[in-house]
Amino acid sequence: METEEKNFNDLRQKFTCKCGCGRNNTTDDFLSKISFAQTITGIDYPITSGCRCPQHNVEVEGSQDSPSLYGAHADIANETPFNCFLIIKGLLMAGLERFRIYPHHIHVDQHPTYPIPSFVWANYPPKIKKEV
Ligand SMILES: [Zn+2]
Repeated sequence: METEEKNFNDLRQKFTCKCGCGRNNTTDDFLSKISFAQTITGIDYPITSGCRCPQHNVEVEGSQDSPSLYGAHADIANETPFNCFLIIKGLLMAGLERFRIYPHHIHVDQHPTYPIPSFVWANYPPKIKKEV
């Protein structure tokens, strides 16, 4: 049980805002789904973006009402086609239903205002600023 809790907390850390402000309002529900997806596919999801504070969201040119502001968003690096398949399979099995597929990452969210399932190819236009 202690290990499970530690793993959950380690996963949560990956969702902290990348600007250094420390913001991390990731919901337990969203985090549980990511954790479940990792468990059933047997791979660690490389989280490249989770929460963003409003200022950082502007800096990386996120949408004005980005789900990253609500703690229900992940960008996951998509390194190989097989990896992409496993990541999406796990997320779907975990009950997540909102996807944007970029050339190098998968965006998944549970937007509180737009709960409608979607699956969008989003390789347009390439983002100029890259999140670190
Ligand atoms: Zn921040």
